[in-house]
Amino acid sequence: MDDSALIEARGLRKHFPMREGLLRRQTSWVRAVDGVDLCIRRGETVGLVGESGCGKTTVARCLLHLIRPTAGHVYYRMPGEVRRRMKELEHDLEGHEEAEKASGGHGPVAAEMASISERYSLEAMSARQLRVQRRNMQMVFQDPYASLNPRMLVKDLVGEPLLVHGMARGEDLDARVVELMEMVGLSADHMYRYPHEFSGGQRQRIGIARALSLRPELVVLDEPTSALDVSVQAQILNMLNELQSELHLTYLFISHDLSTVRYMSDRVHVMYLGKIVESATAAQLFEAPLHPYTRGLISSIPVPDPSRRRGKVPLAGEMPSPSDPPRGCRFHTRCKHRMPRCEIEEPPLIEVARDHFLACHLPNGTDDHGA
Ligand code: SF4
Repeated sequence: MDDSALIEARGLRKHFPMREGLLRRQTSWVRAVDGVDLCIRRGETVGLVGESGCGKTTVARCLLHLIRPTAGHVYYRMPGEVRRRMKELEHDLEGHEEAEKASGGHGPVAAEMASISERYSLEAMSARQLRVQRRNMQMVFQDPYASLNPRMLVKDLVGEPLLVHGMARGEDLDARVVELMEMVGLSADHMYRYPHEFSGGQRQRIGIARALSLRPELVVLDEPTSALDVSVQAQILNMLNELQSELHLTYLFISHDLSTVRYMSDRVHVMYLGKIVESATAAQLFEAPLHPYTRGLISSIPVPDPSRRRGKVPLAGEMPSPSDPPRGCRFHTRCKHRMPRCEIEEPPLIEVARDHFLACHLPNGTDDHGA
């Protein structure tokens, strides 16, 4: 199996300083993203789901390097054999931490890791290289009302990235804008209008046309339909699926709405308080969620058939502040299965055989289990 990654985050962290008082002194850190590993393969849709404020958008912004991560790496187009070697090296580094420290981080393991990072990580790119690289990675924002400049004609909004990157001008530019408009279900007649003349769904189509203008490989869809009516949501999601097949796009689909994540995604990562707590294929995650947080999220999806009942596992309480995350398992303040050790030890994310786990821990398919 080809396990090369289009984009991959390893140990990604983003901490924002919190400032208070007249002198704006830094008092603490908001740990918005706190050690996230995430891999997106070419052509797939990866869902990132969690409650508002869990760090999903910050992960996306770090992936695209719209903001610089505090720590960790983002690798682009890393071949499978290099990924495997990198994992071996990370494993070796854990075993030889003392020796590597003694050599001032210049031991053979650290040196090989640095040389791989140099070739594939976005952090190693110069500002110019990064600007060129950004053509390949675009973002569609949540709010189509706020993400388009109200003073610009649609023609200029969609054509601006092409002009800035010097990819088209004059008649070529106009022709490409018409092509993009038609691609998202609009027409040349819409080019000389302002964003306020469009409905919410049409504005999101304009945002998508703008994101596709540079022919990206990766598109981050950050809650692309959450500001829209349900019927319009379905149209936009179907259009995104069609565009993905036509243009061979790769998506990171961010949402707090699990129904849309299920519809769109091949694989799903569940995020809680800056960390990924469960990852699986969409089918596995929704049929057999393992983490109590995932089970709580899924049980809150409304069931359209009143004759069907879903075992409710309501999520109690609120998510703690990322400036002061709980010790041990971050979910322990809301978990009904917590044990004393959950308040001290942070459980690692490990790979499990899902069917075997369920057979051992959920004999009757009940919800009564821990993480
Ligand atoms: Fe966290 Fe413990 Fe609950 Fe598992 S059982 S989710 S480790 S608090």
